[in-house]
Amino acid sequence: MNITFHGAAREVTGSCYEVRTKDARFLIDCGMFQGNRDAAERNRAPFAFDPNSIDFVLLTHAHIDHSGLLPKLCRSGFSGPVYATSATAELLEIMLRDSAHIQEYEALRAIRKGRKNSAAATPIYDMADAIRAIRQVRTRDYDEIFEIHPAIRMRFRDAGHILGSAIVELWVRDGGKERKLVFSGDLGQPGRVILRDPSEINDADVLIVESTYGDRLHRNLADTIDEFVFAVNDTLLEKEGNVIIPAFALGRTQEIIYYLFELTRQGRFNDLNIFVDSPMATAITELTWRHLNLFDEEARALAHWSDKSDGVPSLKFTASVDESRALNKFVSGTIIIAASGMCTAGRIKHHLKHNIGRRQSTILITGFQAEGTLGRRIVDGARQVRIHGRQYPVRADVYTLGGFSAHADQAALLDWLGAFKSPPARSFVTHGEAKTADMFANEIRTRLNWQVDVPEAGQSVDLF
Ligand SMILES: [Zn+2]
Ligand SMILES: [Zn+2]
Repeated sequence: MNITFHGAAREVTGSCYEVRTKDARFLIDCGMFQGNRDAAERNRAPFAFDPNSIDFVLLTHAHIDHSGLLPKLCRSGFSGPVYATSATAELLEIMLRDSAHIQEYEALRAIRKGRKNSAAATPIYDMADAIRAIRQVRTRDYDEIFEIHPAIRMRFRDAGHILGSAIVELWVRDGGKERKLVFSGDLGQPGRVILRDPSEINDADVLIVESTYGDRLHRNLADTIDEFVFAVNDTLLEKEGNVIIPAFALGRTQEIIYYLFELTRQGRFNDLNIFVDSPMATAITELTWRHLNLFDEEARALAHWSDKSDGVPSLKFTASVDESRALNKFVSGTIIIAASGMCTAGRIKHHLKHNIGRRQSTILITGFQAEGTLGRRIVDGARQVRIHGRQYPVRADVYTLGGFSAHADQAALLDWLGAFKSPPARSFVTHGEAKTADMFANEIRTRLNWQVDVPEAGQSVDLF
């Protein structure tokens, strides 16, 4: 048995691991590379394996850095099943259609800019490929063991990262022996709102574990919430401006809505006027509500309260561009949540244009801002920013709320590893920047006394 780390090796994005046995070949995730300069090129390059030869794909969750190249995989000849939880399957439909739109749009833009003969003029994949990928999805429930190949059984466990997210347990027979492989996927921080805590896993022969925040501890949630409450009330009641919140459509938007409702229920907010200005976030928020059964106790209690009580915040979703523009007439009293989360595209840019130059308004940053993005410049304290080709002074207050992270921090990751009854024969640290992954691997060696490796991108390892 052999594993190849095609992505998310010494970096966070591009999750894709290939496992080969005597009788089977399959992938865990097939994600896009994002952020750094060569990402577009790597997304465009042919796969390092023959997509035709892959028997099936196991998908841990719907985030694009785990799922975004599935349409390309199908376009290149893969015709097998993609196994996912049912919530992931529903989210995937929204995410892949949106991604196909972006690929088609980028290709058209390249043609319009006179680069008709460049590689960029052909989309990496189109809507037909996305629809094909969506049709190849087969859903599997959490916590049940399924045979997905004569020699392979699998089980999804809740990873507590986003709706539908899963840890994958696999029992693989190869050369007469059965071995257990565990892929952590992205692990959530325990105690977060809406989602359940990551499931404990007790044993594995081979473990692949993420390390996004493997080198640090998150600021405590109570302090983060206090700062959030202060920022919102100060803006709406004292300064009389707007609160602008850039947020990823999947995950973060729903969490912010949750906090705004829950803190109103606790009496810390009054008469909130919230707009979610992102069609994709709207679709995902509706879908999130439909999966109430996957929520934790507190989230179910809150949903009940918001259906039955007075004093519930006003929450409106804007769909059309005209509705979105109409928000510009509000100079005070509104909270606007819009994508993209790092302010690189989408409607958030319009809301920043109308508010960033006003002392009365506030920009609330709640998610990771990669180097080189507009969001990062705002976080780093730029006095002026360029939006759609024009310079705007930054006069609004800017708050960065680090404690709302969707990933487990170092302590939570070590706790999760601590549930294993004995060290796996082989462990690999992935899905973290090189420095972070190395530091986390060292932490595992010293604290748990495990043998652990940090694979390079493209590296193949013989397991047994
Ligand atoms: Zn994720
Ligand atoms: Zn990820």
